[in-house]
Amino acid sequence: MFLEALRAPVRHLAWAADDRAMSLSPRDLGMNRPISRRDFFDGIAVSALASAGIAETTQEAAAPPAPYGARGASGASGARGFQGGAAEALSVPHALRDGRFWQYADPPEPTGESYDLVVVGGGLSGVSAAYEWLRRDPGAGVLVLDNHDEIGGQARRARFHRQNGPAPADPGLADGVMCDAETFGADTLVRLGSDWVARLPIDERARDDLRMLHREPPDWFPGLSAEGKQERLAELTYSAFLLEVCGAHPDVERFCRSMPCQEWGYDTRALGAIDAWGTGYPGFAGLGLDANKPSRFNSPTVKKQWGMESPDVYLVPEGNQALVRTMVQRMLDRPGNQVRFRLSSPVVSVRDGAASATVGYFDGHQVMTVTAGAVILACWSAVIPYLVPELPAEQRQALSAAVRVPLLHATVRVRDWDAWRRAGVRRVRWTGAYWSLTELDPPRRPGGAATVHLLATPCRSELGPEAGAVAGRRELIKTPYEHLEHTIRDQLARLLGPAGFDPAGDIEAITVNRWGHGNAPEYCRPWHTFYPDGPYPADTARRRFGRIAIAGSDSAPTARADAAVTAAYRAVEELAP
Ligand SMILES: Cc1cc2nc3c(=O)[nH]c(=O)nc-3n(C[C@H](O)[C@H](O)[C@H](O)COP(=O)(O)OP(=O)(O)OC[C@H]3O[C@@H](n4cnc5c(N)ncnc54)[C@H](O)[C@@H]3O)c2cc1C
Repeated sequence: MFLEALRAPVRHLAWAADDRAMSLSPRDLGMNRPISRRDFFDGIAVSALASAGIAETTQEAAAPPAPYGARGASGASGARGFQGGAAEALSVPHALRDGRFWQYADPPEPTGESYDLVVVGGGLSGVSAAYEWLRRDPGAGVLVLDNHDEIGGQARRARFHRQNGPAPADPGLADGVMCDAETFGADTLVRLGSDWVARLPIDERARDDLRMLHREPPDWFPGLSAEGKQERLAELTYSAFLLEVCGAHPDVERFCRSMPCQEWGYDTRALGAIDAWGTGYPGFAGLGLDANKPSRFNSPTVKKQWGMESPDVYLVPEGNQALVRTMVQRMLDRPGNQVRFRLSSPVVSVRDGAASATVGYFDGHQVMTVTAGAVILACWSAVIPYLVPELPAEQRQALSAAVRVPLLHATVRVRDWDAWRRAGVRRVRWTGAYWSLTELDPPRRPGGAATVHLLATPCRSELGPEAGAVAGRRELIKTPYEHLEHTIRDQLARLLGPAGFDPAGDIEAITVNRWGHGNAPEYCRPWHTFYPDGPYPADTARRRFGRIAIAGSDSAPTARADAAVTAAYRAVEELAP
């Protein structure tokens, strides 16, 4: 019976698995092993079972889910400490989007509560807005509402590179590229080091092209001015640049494709050639462009990070959640503080009235309302038109244009990391497999347990960042957990099996974070032809509307922690008495 149950998800997987890349049977991969498995969607637990096999997890997922908001406003935990299945967890925002919510909701019930400020969204931006408001007016009554059962939004699980962290126990581990079976028909791990190009399993002409692109590419646009060359790059993706401008062998494009996935959440079919130039990708040296300053066509983050040595580093121990926690603690520690956090409370309506604004949220049973002197919407911009339908049509359209890029992160606990030491790699980019990055956290001691991170980018890059994000998010929602675990085990086995890694015995725990609404969007060429001359949709989207101001990283729009904080301060400034 147990085996029967086990087989079902594995058969189901067959449609998605790439035969060329299959390594071991599901049993040999350890799909039946009792380990800790956790699956989050946009920070909400979809399913979690400590010490359970995959078959039991599947049964659990099929069990009737608890109603959304099981923790409710009181914060009382549900039976297992998690809310129901993904469909239920996301049902309120989706029902709002689909126009179903108000058909079934009872009339809103006033709580009788009144606040100086209500903040919608308890991510880094919302918490910063509350904090800044209280700094200016310490006696103010502030309510923060969030649909999660925990404060912090993305900051809770954002992973930050630690520049000054402990030295790895084995500094000899190299970065590598897995030229995988999905791309090249068979797996070949290539450690980056001297003459790595010679070891790539690609066509001989492709090797020559790669060497040329790295060492001495010609001027592809002779006769054009520097501005003219940058304008040409702004019209192309990096894939198009390689294939159409450089005439590179298709293997070159295939080899490079996943290079930007970690930073951008999509591959070279969506990454602009101008930003590829701005971040040091091969092929541009012959253009003779000034490396000391960005082009006006570079996207805002590339401009901002120009010349920085480690641009994606924010040195906050424990990541940005430490910032959120510190702000929350300070707010709560004030004598006579009037700040309240209400979790598992998705906001469903915000109305500005003659004397005050009214904010409605769903407490798991019905819509409750509070009144507010001011409201800051620090939630996802695309949700706002459903909360405030009175906004001008132009503004609602601009808000809806803020499509976040989906991301998928997995954290895997392994019994010991010796296989990585034997394989001599730490951080490996995969050219076309489901997970585009596998990375060992530098362990402090030789031997023993370690953590491995994996990243996948569901965005359908060939459609561009926005259409690709929408299509990718749909696929991410539908992807069964079993497929994610299977691909994790499979890729770790392919990478480290020859070095003695046993996916069945060495994996102790897997946590998957599906960020359907991941990176905030950013203006980039060639997709946003209005950039950099404007007008920008975000300028329209974040306009103040009576007592309502709009914060959040989407309003910047930039997928960075500092943008979330800056947006919060701007929103406070717009409304502050
Ligand atoms: C995996 C990952 C890694 C990252 N790494 C880095 C990094 O290294 N460096 C860096 O600078 N940045 C990084 N970021 C980005 C950074 O974490 C975000 O820019 C920042 O946390 C966004 O904050 P926010 O408040 O704008 O949005 P969010 O954190 O998304 O907060 C918005 C909140 O509003 C809630 N909400 C939405 N709708 C409603 C509603 N109707 N009612 C109530 N609440 C609602 C959401 O659930 C969420 O909690 C990373 C992000 C991710 C996902």
